[in-house]
Amino acid sequence: MLRSLHLLLGFGVVAPFLLQGKPRSLAAFPSTAALSNPRGLSSTLPIARSRYGACFRAFRMSSGSSGDSETSPAADVGSGQAVALPVVHKPKVRFCQACGSPTKQVIPDGEEKIRAVCTVCGRIHYENPKMVVGCLVEHDDKVLLCKRKIEPSYGLWTLPAGYLEIGESAADGACRETLEEACAEVEILSPFAQLDIPRIGQSYVIFRARLRLPHFSPGPESLECALFALDDIPFDSLAFSSIIVTLKMYIQDKKAGKLKFHYCTINKRPGASPSDPLGFDVDHHLHS
Ligand SMILES: [Zn+2]
Repeated sequence: MLRSLHLLLGFGVVAPFLLQGKPRSLAAFPSTAALSNPRGLSSTLPIARSRYGACFRAFRMSSGSSGDSETSPAADVGSGQAVALPVVHKPKVRFCQACGSPTKQVIPDGEEKIRAVCTVCGRIHYENPKMVVGCLVEHDDKVLLCKRKIEPSYGLWTLPAGYLEIGESAADGACRETLEEACAEVEILSPFAQLDIPRIGQSYVIFRARLRLPHFSPGPESLECALFALDDIPFDSLAFSSIIVTLKMYIQDKKAGKLKFHYCTINKRPGASPSDPLGFDVDHHLHS
């Protein structure tokens, strides 16, 4: 069973990110910040600085395996050598949303990616990432978690979060999801994190929030809701990698006495299930 996380260090892991964007020169700083919790999770973040002066902490977080979990990918668990493979997306749209005719998978003229293109009207069906929005609700130095009553990850804990709807802002969507999943009316305090998961086409935006009223209860998608002290967060039964990473960053901020805004990319490991919360690497991390 996967039950431990290892944070793997080194600027080599920053390189894939840098190669994808504008070249930056890095200079390592010797100081590190450490995080630990009673369930054995640990992380250490080396500090790096770009030539543009923006300070950020670069790290890689990987899942580790101590057993023969069938959900565990075979690749180099805990070795620090895992490399996120390029995402090759296969279009899923089978029938044209305009005329109902079958689509075919082709690379349209002037483009580089395979698209689902209608065989009759020629409409190109672009498939883009979805935004997931949610709240990290703070109350009396605790955070609100919901135990999922639906798949995937039935019975595991998560922050109240879900897909953003057309017509609402990210903040409004996060509040709506919190009301739906935890029957809690909340007030947004600040954006806390954006976490991109390119392989499954999701981008999370998580807000810090507080309860408008001291009330919460499980909504139809939750088995139960509860406030957890930071040292009691059930890291061994969290639903998603995004939630694990968010809460680890939050705990680190709280212990450092300064809350920040974070951005990071979570790379699902090849072969890992989208619902496997431990089948991931985090290659870099930017914060305010
Ligand atoms: Zn069509």
